[in-house]
Amino acid sequence: MEKTDIYNNYGEQTIAIHAGEIPDPVTKASSPNLVMSTTFIAEADAGFSVEGMSENDPFIYTRWGNPTVRQLEEKLCAIEGAEAAIALGSGMAAISTLLFDQLKAGDHAIISDVAYAALSEITNEMIPELGIEVTKVNCADVQAIKNAVKPNTRLIYTETPCNPLLRLTDIEAVAEIARTHGIKLAVDSTFATPAATKPLELGADFVIHSLTKYLGGHGDALGGVILGYKKDIIPLRKKTAIRLGGSLSPFNAWLILRGIATFPIRMKVHEANALKVAHFLEQHSKVKRVIYPGLPSHPQYQLAEKQMKNFSGLLTFQVEDGKAAAAVLARELKVIHYAVSLGHHRSLIFYLNSEDLLKTSFRFTTKEELDSWQEFAGKGIFRLSVGLEDADDLIGDLNHALSLL
Ligand SMILES: *Cc1c(COP(=O)(O)O)cnc(C)c1O
Repeated sequence: MEKTDIYNNYGEQTIAIHAGEIPDPVTKASSPNLVMSTTFIAEADAGFSVEGMSENDPFIYTRWGNPTVRQLEEKLCAIEGAEAAIALGSGMAAISTLLFDQLKAGDHAIISDVAYAALSEITNEMIPELGIEVTKVNCADVQAIKNAVKPNTRLIYTETPCNPLLRLTDIEAVAEIARTHGIKLAVDSTFATPAATKPLELGADFVIHSLTKYLGGHGDALGGVILGYKKDIIPLRKKTAIRLGGSLSPFNAWLILRGIATFPIRMKVHEANALKVAHFLEQHSKVKRVIYPGLPSHPQYQLAEKQMKNFSGLLTFQVEDGKAAAAVLARELKVIHYAVSLGHHRSLIFYLNSEDLLKTSFRFTTKEELDSWQEFAGKGIFRLSVGLEDADDLIGDLNHALSLL
C-alpha cells in the first residue's frame, strides 16, 4: 500500500482533492492533465502482449492503461482504502469484468436476489448459460447466505443498500462466511459510497462502484471501478479487463476526477437533505411508507447505524396508486427531474412498478424472498435520489405534486 500510505495522515477532504493527482512535470499545470492519446511512444524492446506487463510499466496503449485514468484509479484507492483499482467504462463494465474474471464453468455464485437490474438480468441468463451455477439469495439474511454455500461456491456478490429496496447486507458477517469457506466476497457499494462504508475494511475482497453515481456526482460521465487487493486486481487487469476492453474514456476519467474533489462535502449535503425530505414524506398524509436507512423506521436501522457513517441520499416511498401518481409527479415536479439514475447534484425521481420488475429483473425462489420484496416495495415504489438543491425547494416541489393526488 505504498502510495495510499502517504494519505493516511490527511483528512478525507484533503484526500479527495489531492490523492492521485500529479501536476504536469513540463507545464507545472496544477489541475490533472487530460491525456486523450490512445498510444504512447515505446522503447524499441517493448513487448506486444499484456502478459509481461507490471502495474508500474510505462504507458503503451490506452486500453491497457492511461495517465488520466491512472490518476483516477490512485485517487479512488486512497478514498476507499484499497491497494489497487481498475476503472472501466461503466458500472456494468466493472461488474461484468469481475464476474468473467472470477467465475468459470462448474463454479457456483451466490448473488443478491435484488440488485441493480442489469446485474440481476445477466446473472439470470448469460452467466448460467456459460455453465456457471447461480443461487439468488436475500442478502439481508445472513443465514440464507450460509445455507446457500456449496463446495464449488467461488463468489458471493451483494449490494448494500440494494437497488431499489435499500435493504442492507451485514458485510462483516457475510465476510466471515466467505473467509471460512475460501469464497471471494464482492460488494457493490454504489449506494453507500466510501463516505458511509468501506467494505474492504469489513472483510470484502472486491468493491464495485458505478462512478456514474455519487463519486462522479454530476450526471455527465459514465464510469465504473473495481477496487481490491493487488493480488486480485493485477491479474484481473491483465487476464480479463484489458482483453474484454470495457475501458474508461480518459475524458470521463477527467470529469470524474474533478467530481470526486467535492465528494465528501457533497455526501454531507445529500444526507442532510435526504433526512429532511424523508421526515417530510413520513408525515405526509398521501405517503404510505418511507424507507431510508437514516430513519429509525428502516427495518435494519441498527445495522445502518453500525455500518453506515453517512446514510447517503437515496430513499423510497409508496403512495396508494403509484402508477397514477407517477404521471402526476412526472408532470408537476419542477425542480426534481423525473428520470432514472441517481447520485447526481440534481434530484431525480423514478417510479418502479413491482409487477414489471418481477417480470424482467428479479427472480425469487422462495416465498420468504417474495415476502421480503413485498415488505419493502409493495406494488411499487418511488426511488428518490435527493440532490444538492435547497431542501426546502425539494419539499415544496414534492408537497405541490403530492397535493394533487
Ligand atoms: C447504476 C448502478 C450500476 C451500473 O452502473 P452504470 O454506470 O450505469 O453501468 C451498478 N450498481 C448500482 C448499485 C447502480 O446504481
